[in-house]
Amino acid sequence: MKDVFDFDPRLLKAAAEAEAAAAAQFREIDMISQHGSAKVLAAFQAEHVSAACFAGANGYGYDDVGRDKLDKVWARVFHTEDALVRHQFVSGTHALSTALFGVLRTGDKIVSVTGAPYDTLEEVIGIRGKGNGSLADYGITYGQVDLNADGRPDLPAIAAGVSGAKVVYLQRSRGYSLRPALSVADIAEIVKTVRGVNPDAVIMVDNCYGEFVDYDEPTDAGADLIIGSLIKNPGGGIAQTGGYIAGKAALVEQCAYRLTCVGMGKEVGCSLNMCREMYLGLFFAPEVVANARKTGVFAASLLGSLGFECLPKASEKAGDIITVLKLRSPGAMEAFCGGIQAGSPVDSYVTPEAWDMPGYESKVIMAAGTFTGGASIELSADGPMREPYAVYLQGGLTYGSGKLGILTAAQHMLDRGLLSF
Ligand SMILES: *Cc1c(COP(=O)(O)O)cnc(C)c1O
Repeated sequence: MKDVFDFDPRLLKAAAEAEAAAAAQFREIDMISQHGSAKVLAAFQAEHVSAACFAGANGYGYDDVGRDKLDKVWARVFHTEDALVRHQFVSGTHALSTALFGVLRTGDKIVSVTGAPYDTLEEVIGIRGKGNGSLADYGITYGQVDLNADGRPDLPAIAAGVSGAKVVYLQRSRGYSLRPALSVADIAEIVKTVRGVNPDAVIMVDNCYGEFVDYDEPTDAGADLIIGSLIKNPGGGIAQTGGYIAGKAALVEQCAYRLTCVGMGKEVGCSLNMCREMYLGLFFAPEVVANARKTGVFAASLLGSLGFECLPKASEKAGDIITVLKLRSPGAMEAFCGGIQAGSPVDSYVTPEAWDMPGYESKVIMAAGTFTGGASIELSADGPMREPYAVYLQGGLTYGSGKLGILTAAQHMLDRGLLSF
């Protein structure tokens, strides 16, 4: 590595120590990845995945073998009755919106029990905006149970807040917040609490960024529906677009009715030539998620050793692939994100600049040099330019390249006098 990149020897020494300190965490990540690979491989075998599954289908997509079998493979991996895995989902938000509109009816209530949902869902639910076709416009009411002061689920408040709810909604990932991601054990506790007071509620989990991070998934903890994006974890960096919904068969069917048409549902929607990449992506996903996690752990170990607060800490259990690095100044955010960009395989020659992103109060800086536009399973870093000047780091298709990206970012900070050894 030294022959190729010109990193400061002090940085390389700190990096070697940071990596050594993370050895136990890396072993745990490898074990989780091995378990995920086993689930995926067994599902491929049980469903007799064959070359015929990779051949594209066009037109209406009746009897689209590749599409139908991928749903079954997905359902096996996530231990659900059924799944809807489609490149026709344009993003994670679209899949989540489809699930919400699929399941909820006028007069129903949805209660989010992990505080405010991800930004893009506020308009879908109708927390922001009026008259644009949100759930609120269709007479679906919204309630929210906030997290505790320490960012953990407030079980007594959840028990008090979910009676009468048709959908109880959880977000597994921290998203763009400082609260920790939920572990699958946390989700199991929430499920138990909800069932105790409202056994009929549909428990829906935004699983974005969470897939394959733990041995189990929210559906193993009793969730009825999980939803995610294929340009994040379960697409393995290979799927070019898409999303999924998995869970109880009757609910998945309602979602399919919403995605296509009532009555047609899963029977239509041709897979075109997307199947091979979706299968291959799922096949890679456990290992790619492990690489992303290791990249985050390495960053937390290195920057933690240099005095920066990181969430989660390198030694802590994670519930998603995000690592928050509190860099404490706008200059450090610019240097770090500039380094992540410079350390990317694509667009390494451009410099990210903080900009006024619609919907945000402060300027936002974003670094990503990805093969797939916006794919945050690939190494990327972003954050709003305000206290505590925290960068949200995620992704890393391979650990080798992820580590180099972090080293480039740290070198950029060092070059600007922002690191001390
Ligand atoms: C990415 C993400 C979403 C969906 O976002 P898209 O950009 O529409 O895919 C929703 N919730 C969480 C927690 C996410 O990380």
